[in-house]
Amino acid sequence: MLLAATAYEKPTVANNNQQFTIVIFGASGDLSRRKLTPALFHLHSIGALPERCRFIAFARSEYDDQTYRKLLFDVASDSYGADATKWVEFAKEIRYITGSSNDLESLRHLDEMIKSDTAGQLEDNRLYYLALSPTLYEGTISALSEAGMLDERQGVRRLVVEKPFGTDLESARILNENIHARAAENQLFRIDHYLGKDTVQNLIVFRFGNTIFEPLWNRNYIDHVQISVLEDLDVGDRAAYYEHSGVLRDMFQSHILQLLALVAMEPPATNDADSLRDEKAKVLSATRKPNPQQAAENSIRGQYNGYRELDGVSPASATATYAALRLYVDNWRWQGVPFFLRSGKALRRKYTEIAIQFRQPPHRIFDVEDASGLVPNKLRIVVQPDEAIHLTIDNKRPGPELRPQAQELSYEFPMGMRDAYERLLLDAVAGDASLFTRADEIELSWAVIDPYVNAWETELASQLYPYAQGTWGPIAADQFIAPGRYWSNPIG
Ligand code: NDP
Repeated sequence: MLLAATAYEKPTVANNNQQFTIVIFGASGDLSRRKLTPALFHLHSIGALPERCRFIAFARSEYDDQTYRKLLFDVASDSYGADATKWVEFAKEIRYITGSSNDLESLRHLDEMIKSDTAGQLEDNRLYYLALSPTLYEGTISALSEAGMLDERQGVRRLVVEKPFGTDLESARILNENIHARAAENQLFRIDHYLGKDTVQNLIVFRFGNTIFEPLWNRNYIDHVQISVLEDLDVGDRAAYYEHSGVLRDMFQSHILQLLALVAMEPPATNDADSLRDEKAKVLSATRKPNPQQAAENSIRGQYNGYRELDGVSPASATATYAALRLYVDNWRWQGVPFFLRSGKALRRKYTEIAIQFRQPPHRIFDVEDASGLVPNKLRIVVQPDEAIHLTIDNKRPGPELRPQAQELSYEFPMGMRDAYERLLLDAVAGDASLFTRADEIELSWAVIDPYVNAWETELASQLYPYAQGTWGPIAADQFIAPGRYWSNPIG
């Protein structure tokens, strides 16, 4: 695959006169210990990072370097344990600094430390990863700016900002405005780790590297599109956060709309970050913004049994842990084609899939006795847990009669990047923003989701359907997609 083939090239900033420093703010947290550091370790151990690359872990908890390194090892020993020498080499490059990310003095101390490492001899490039609560993004960027740490005269200064970015259109706009007052858009890398998955990037290659699908990729041949992001885990210890977020803000505004944009966008003129993001933004802009009545009619919400008993959750909570939406993209290519999107917690399987359901042939010439014969073509792009592409086609059933039977052509992705964060960290180090979300995309996504969030707070809202844990969600979701259409659930 085109993108995977370049995955381990060294970032272009690598050369001996340059130092690259990766600072993780929020280094004692879950994301940093479970995902980011193992990803950096693997990139370091295969030599994919710049030659002189240092890692600084920053948080308020007090650790010395040794204790912090042990803390890292204990959380992800599976990732580090296989090669003790590589772990030791990597660990010695990690420094832990105690401080508060929105405190000027702490940041000045950090800045001095990085400068003393480069000793004025080397170009001083930096990536600041904000693995922090969203309430700290603005204060941290503001303090970094005040400390002069976003000034790019001595080297690049890039900021990776985690999700969620805002809680609605208004808050995202304000956040963007305030951040833009301190950092240029090309310094910002708003991360959505779904975009780091090989299958997601392959959507671009699959659609625009082949000639056989693109002519069919429109309202004339496609009946509908489904995007499912299903989780088997319940909300776990994030209940208090989730109670205010709910499934629409947690999953739809980011991951699911990004997938929709990649499926529905027009071919970009080139593969560069802005061409890709321009096309995604156009799709989000063309996605219908319903009035409250339409939003209520085109959505269904559910809550798993047991959710209201969790700590931090109201006993009368109306927070949806499951949602299905019917969206339309109002442009020439997609007019009238429904996009069914769904996501939920505590479901039967962890499973993410994009399903393109093609239309029935216009005229049937075969006798079909059972459901396995003559089904319309379906393309399933499985994003997780196993990355794969399956195309359902009709073939002749073996035997004397001319009877059709549905079969699948499948391609399973070999392991490319071990984790989406590896790809994205590498791209951020190299300054390639293609797989990061631009300010306008974020705002356009909130503009799509806000009407549903708002409609659910009115008396127009559909019933909140309870569902049993370990199922595919509320039964009402099957009626929502019917008639003649079915959710594409994995077997088993
Ligand atoms: P945690 O609560 O586990 O970690 C937050 C970290 O921030 C801790 O290390 C905390 O450590 C540190 N922190 C808090 N206040 C400050 C401060 N003033 N200055 C410096 N450090 C501070 O959160 P997560 O790691 O789970 O999430 C971090 C971000 O990543 C969030 O925005 C989340 O939405 C996002 N995210 C997380 C995912 C995950 O899998 N965990 C997945 C996708 C996104 P200390 O108290 O020592 O300062």
